[in-house]
Amino acid sequence: MTAHTPIPQDFNVVPTETEVVIVGGGIIGACTALQLAQRGIPVTLFEKGSIGEEQSSRNWGWVRKMGRDIREMPLMIHAMKLWDELPGIIGADVGFRRQGITYFCDEEKDMGKYEAWMKAMEPFGLDTHFVQRQRVNELAPGNTRNFAGGLHTPSDGYAEPHLAARAIAEGARRLGARIVEGCAVRGFETESGRVTEVVTEKGRIKCRTVVLAGGIWSSLFARNQNVKVPQLKMLSQTMRTRPIENGPLGCGSGKGFGYRKRNDGGYNVGMRSAHAVDIVPDSFRFFKDYLPAMKNEIKAMKFRVGQRTWQETMMLGGWKLDQRTPFETYRIMRPVPGHKILDQATINIKKLFPQFKDMVVNERMSAWIDVTPDAIPTISQVDAIPGFYISTGYSGHGFGIAPAAGQLMAELITGDTPHVDPTPFRHSRFIDGSKIVHWPIGF
Ligand SMILES: Cc1cc2nc3c(=O)[nH]c(=O)nc-3n(C[C@H](O)[C@H](O)[C@H](O)COP(=O)(O)OP(=O)(O)OC[C@H]3O[C@@H](n4cnc5c(N)ncnc54)[C@H](O)[C@@H]3O)c2cc1C
Repeated sequence: MTAHTPIPQDFNVVPTETEVVIVGGGIIGACTALQLAQRGIPVTLFEKGSIGEEQSSRNWGWVRKMGRDIREMPLMIHAMKLWDELPGIIGADVGFRRQGITYFCDEEKDMGKYEAWMKAMEPFGLDTHFVQRQRVNELAPGNTRNFAGGLHTPSDGYAEPHLAARAIAEGARRLGARIVEGCAVRGFETESGRVTEVVTEKGRIKCRTVVLAGGIWSSLFARNQNVKVPQLKMLSQTMRTRPIENGPLGCGSGKGFGYRKRNDGGYNVGMRSAHAVDIVPDSFRFFKDYLPAMKNEIKAMKFRVGQRTWQETMMLGGWKLDQRTPFETYRIMRPVPGHKILDQATINIKKLFPQFKDMVVNERMSAWIDVTPDAIPTISQVDAIPGFYISTGYSGHGFGIAPAAGQLMAELITGDTPHVDPTPFRHSRFIDGSKIVHWPIGF
């Protein structure tokens, strides 16, 4: 089930002023609003469609440290703590459970690909460890493959994407944030180079700070403000099943399969590393930026000329702030899932787990994920425009890290000491000639 959330009655009321405007009501925007509201800062979040309806409600729901880029690890460790605390702050259970995550290996030699990552993570003292044949097969009861081993992190877990972003936004609202749905932000005005006012499709709002948390739309929004944010899109998909008895707990993935048991007894299943990539004008614009990433990830990408090619070509011209924007045309982006990939995933999971033989799929869901050249996000101010901040580019793993990303953005805005070093996430790395390093995680 994708959450088709009702739009509240006051969705079209745009306040005349606020301190911080957040563009985008995915989990990143929602967590940022919550953190600002907790600090008593006037904040108004605008969502062009409905809270969480793009990536944030359609993902697997994994909340993981395992397999993370080392530059994200301090932020992710802090995010785990914040997930634990969240129900007490927002007064709602968003389904966070630490049921463990496992990567399964068919052959002993496959475990070698994790060794470099394990070595690099030693300073963090994670509970991630190698598991041998007997234990790994206990983690996947009834499987027909007899795995040789795997990598397991007991303290990793999941939360429920169809609950989280909305519940967090609602928590922020109770603490004083304004949440305005069905209202696209077209851009912002500056005076002497500084942000002074945001223009929405329903009116203007004075503010000193804008946070762009627009998911796949961030690059387009920034481009209209003459700011480069390299970002490409990859299609990712999963299926939600009805409850299945006696299946594995927690989350797991291996060759040709991935699963996550939900709290309602059903599963999210699919293949975690199979993505369609449409060739669009940005593919050429950012070609050089993405060369290191392509070298590492080319096997997971299936390039094609698709609907997005045409749609994005039509967006090339930009817009004036009194004109209708693509954000109003594409109110909620619901791409067609890669059915071939999901058909294959269905065959694979039924073969692997006899318990899934009669599985009933309630829904096939997909979303475009926003990927940066180094596959880590931008959480940063834009140096050239005081008051303009960006929190985007979560590269397919932003759900789990979102609570800490929201905190980091709030710290940057308020000038509080950041709880982690924000340097790896600075926007300037894409424009100041810094060497872009794409970490070859390999899983
Ligand atoms: C199939 C799939 C599986 C995934 N699995 C996982 C996982 O297991 N674990 C994990 O950590 N991550 C996972 N992810 C990634 C995760 O979902 C994203 O990284 C995360 O949701 C990004 O959140 P966001 O708020 O940045 O973007 P989004 O959720 O896309 O939200 C951005 C919002 O901004 C709004 N917006 C954009 N422009 C404007 C504008 N101009 N005005 C107003 N509103 C605007 C959009 O409508 C949208 O709602 C997965 C993603 C997919 C697609």
